[in-house]
Amino acid sequence: MTVELADRLKVLPPYLFAQLDEAKARQLGKGVDVIDLGVGDPDLSTPKPIIERMKKAVENPDHHRYPSYEGMLSFREAVARWYQRRFGVKLDPALEVIALIGSKEGIGHIPLAFVNPGEVVLVPDPGYPVYAGATILANGKPCQVPLLAERGFLPDLTAIPGEILARAKLLFLSYPNNPTAAVASLAFFEEAVDFAREHEIILCHDAAYSEMHYGEPPHSLMEVKGAKEVAIEFHSLSKTFNMTGWRIGMAVGNEEVVQGLKKVKTHIDSGAFQAVQEAGIEALEGEYGVEEMRRVYRERRDILVKGLKGAGYDVEPPKATFYLWFPVPAGYDSMAFAKKALEEVGVVITPGLGFGGYGEGYVRVALTVSKERIEEAGERLGRLMA
Ligand code: PLP
Repeated sequence: MTVELADRLKVLPPYLFAQLDEAKARQLGKGVDVIDLGVGDPDLSTPKPIIERMKKAVENPDHHRYPSYEGMLSFREAVARWYQRRFGVKLDPALEVIALIGSKEGIGHIPLAFVNPGEVVLVPDPGYPVYAGATILANGKPCQVPLLAERGFLPDLTAIPGEILARAKLLFLSYPNNPTAAVASLAFFEEAVDFAREHEIILCHDAAYSEMHYGEPPHSLMEVKGAKEVAIEFHSLSKTFNMTGWRIGMAVGNEEVVQGLKKVKTHIDSGAFQAVQEAGIEALEGEYGVEEMRRVYRERRDILVKGLKGAGYDVEPPKATFYLWFPVPAGYDSMAFAKKALEEVGVVITPGLGFGGYGEGYVRVALTVSKERIEEAGERLGRLMA
């Protein structure tokens, strides 16, 4: 039998990080001491009280059965309380909050709820690749909205052509931003909400990095008056509490949008393991380890920025996220420079092109190894410049 992939899968490029893993494995196979600053996966441990709560919850036979699709009410209430405390945002846990198996799951599923074949989804470029991938899987058409350095990596919404807007169903935004580390002001979020209302586009904001900051706490889009009329916000415990492996996140906001996402989920998955939701409640209520997480990344950030600047790289310390996003040295494109970094000095960095065409000319570095290894990576990358 000839196995024929569906057209939608054929047009999807291979997932960037899967390719990077292969290149890294080849170097490791040769015995190279590789420093991996590629994937944004925290190397810190999940705080102890969260693990302890999980251990107890695993024993509870109630949790051994199918969970509810939307998540336990107690988890959704903990999410609502956290939004109230952190952002001053009031949410109805029954209708305006849904649990996710990591925020990627919700982001991946939302186009299935609202996008008809051929309809447009506006995606930031450079951006987290899942926005465009999920659109393609839903037979929608991703349209790139450039994020440019001269605008602080915020999109110029007024520049999107009218004929595109007329076919657009969703607009994805994400601040603090992966990969550029940009932070959005409340004024920008207000502009985005007004824009979504005027053009009847569902605004999907991804706030996965809101707690990873080194100064002013970033805003939630939900703080904007009227955001709930047009928007859903995806959030996650992954980065805040070093829980990427646990797969727990949430989406909050417009009731009809949240319920549309729930309908998709009822047909595809059967919810997040309840013991993980209990651990999630513990995390949100206790906010364990968050200050320490910021201290660790700030220290690494400062070491690497100093090392790279000293070596001649044009890099600024990010205000949020654990990413440095900086232009590649003259004479390289992003793929060539990332390849050189891996092959000549054994450092995995992510080529900007992997985040979209407007990411060309940049690379992303994730601060996900110890400060000693970060220092070593800075020295090695410095050697590349020399
Ligand atoms: N959103 C952004 C911008 C991310 O970078 C990531 C993960 O790297 C996610 C969402 C997904 O996180 P999770 O599915 O672990 O909640």
